[in-house]
Amino acid sequence: EAGGPAVHSGLVMHGLPDVAGRIAPEQLRHVVAASEDVEPASVVVLENTHRSAGGRVWPLDELERVVATARELGLPVHLDGARLLNAAVASGLPAAEYGRLADTVTVCFSKGLGCPLGAVLAGSRERIEEAWKGKFLFGGAMRQAGIVAATALYALDHHVDRLAEDHARARRLAEGLADAGLPVDVDAVETNFVGVDVDSMGIDVADARARIADEGVLVGFLRPGVLRVATYLGITDEDVERAIEAIPRALVGAVAPA
Ligand SMILES: *Cc1c(COP(=O)(O)O)cnc(C)c1O
Repeated sequence: EAGGPAVHSGLVMHGLPDVAGRIAPEQLRHVVAASEDVEPASVVVLENTHRSAGGRVWPLDELERVVATARELGLPVHLDGARLLNAAVASGLPAAEYGRLADTVTVCFSKGLGCPLGAVLAGSRERIEEAWKGKFLFGGAMRQAGIVAATALYALDHHVDRLAEDHARARRLAEGLADAGLPVDVDAVETNFVGVDVDSMGIDVADARARIADEGVLVGFLRPGVLRVATYLGITDEDVERAIEAIPRALVGAVAPA
């Protein structure tokens, strides 16, 4: 975000084209070889679930293969696990099965887990010591973090298994919107995001969001041309049914007659 890696760490980010939020080992080999002379690769960052792909989950064996390739290339792996617990619940695997593959893992508590703020970094003792110093250096230290940690502990006890409800509601939402004729890929809904490809309807994302907000539903942005409708612990079954009515109603008005 905002060029932070370049400014703070002298890192240039190379985004790779994905399929459902995943990359293949060959892509990694290729980009590492191609950038060798100018910007030698120093770290691989993967994301599970993958946000912009629509909250997609990595199959464990695929992640294992990409991580093994990174190791072969001598590169450490950071797992952006902002929504790792969604991946764990959706796949039925313990989050640690994914996390143990990486050198460092971040988990965000302020999204599906429902905390007002907070995230954690996990890694080996040595790396955490290093990160601890970096946190002060970057201005990210918070001395009164106990109250934040308390909400995270509460969330770990009470808000993990229930992520399955968010996933089921997203599924219902996707089916309802698809039944209403909206361009929604129901099979792509693995966790709590539903993508609505408003671009394919000839509607601008900002316009779509404003029209849907007028109907009382707040939706976000997934990727260019695609709206993100997300479920979380503040969204009930009734809300989902309301959204299934409201979103098509809002968008039908935006489509120019042929
Ligand atoms: C939100 C988000 C982050 C940052 O999480 P914080 O808890 O705000 O630090 C990182 N990665 C992804 C994919 C996110 O969605």
